[in-house]
Amino acid sequence: MKLNDNARFSTICIHAGQEPDPSTGAIITPIYQTSTYVQEGLGQHKGYEYGRTQNPTRMALEANLAAIEKGAAAFAFASGMAAIDAILTRLESGDHLVVSDNTYGGTFRLFERVRRKFGLDFTYVDTSRLETIDQAITGKTKYLFIETPTNPMLRITDLAAASEIAHARNVRVVVDNTFASPYVQQPLALGCDIVTHSTTKFLNGHSDSVGGVVVLKHQDDIDWMKFVQNAAGAILGPMDSWLVLRGTKTMPIRMERTNSNAQAIAEHLAAHPRVQSVIYPGLANHPHHALAKRQMRGFGGLISFDVGSIEAARTVLPRFRLMSLAESLGGVETLISHPAIMTHASVPPERRAAIGITDGLIRISVGIEDVDDLTEDIDQALSDTQRK
Ligand SMILES: *Cc1c(COP(=O)(O)O)cnc(C)c1O
Repeated sequence: MKLNDNARFSTICIHAGQEPDPSTGAIITPIYQTSTYVQEGLGQHKGYEYGRTQNPTRMALEANLAAIEKGAAAFAFASGMAAIDAILTRLESGDHLVVSDNTYGGTFRLFERVRRKFGLDFTYVDTSRLETIDQAITGKTKYLFIETPTNPMLRITDLAAASEIAHARNVRVVVDNTFASPYVQQPLALGCDIVTHSTTKFLNGHSDSVGGVVVLKHQDDIDWMKFVQNAAGAILGPMDSWLVLRGTKTMPIRMERTNSNAQAIAEHLAAHPRVQSVIYPGLANHPHHALAKRQMRGFGGLISFDVGSIEAARTVLPRFRLMSLAESLGGVETLISHPAIMTHASVPPERRAAIGITDGLIRISVGIEDVDDLTEDIDQALSDTQRK
């Protein structure tokens, strides 16, 4: 099997990094559940020495994800957080990062509670306002770390423009592309330098694995990441690597459905009398709608909407039947959550208010069920006459 250089996205997702198993011809890369490899003689081996350093299932996934994100190499880690932490190991005490404010809570915790102790410094700005990026960059800034869309306010940063600003100051751009997925958005092609994902979300897509990946394009970054993946050892195991490889094959078709379901649900919510406001980049009233249209293919699977008060949220949330009340996102099943009480409880109320996370805000991670069943679930949950 050889992919043409001009192979399209869905074909790449299914075939890149995938070879029939050399010993049996199995079309699906097996789960090589092994810690070591027998060597034919002293210093003679088949490129595999020890399971932390090399594993065929993990390496097949890494080749697949590098091609999907248009990078030169990818490295898979035990979680999205392990992947982000591995990126930080490139830096040294005294280095500074400019970070999108209202970044993923776990990222904020890692930066502030763990890595600040080791002498890294972080400044949080609204990267969707490009002028704030340039203002925050200092002589010590090494990385601009962007999340777009953000959670749960779904603000969009112009990745090409942000990269130009950063590169003019010798700063590399890291994008956490988890919320968009590589189907919706391709940061490396837009000029960014490093992409990371929690594969737990849209890439795996089936809510049955936790993992992370770093995709790189510069050789110096690749050399370091290869070294540190083995040296620090937070690798993705073979079983999880196999699950994510299973997931990426259907990612384009899942994202198409996710996008169309989310657009329909956002419009449905916007027309609903019990809903005060809806945030979705695919709605014309979203402040970054035009940018999102240019930068993204579809508008992704996350929607936030406001029911007006904590009381209304407490009434409505338990009434959902099909949508499950849960953290996380990006699976085939639709999840619903309350940021102020669930994912953003550790963010102080003043900061929540400053970001716009009100007590009536509800977030949906849209799955790929039949959209009519999803809108019916919304209608029965929001109806005044419904009783438990
Ligand atoms: C979930 C998530 C992470 C962390 O990934 P884990 O796999 O849970 O460690 C990082 N960034 C974003 C945007 C996420 O949604």
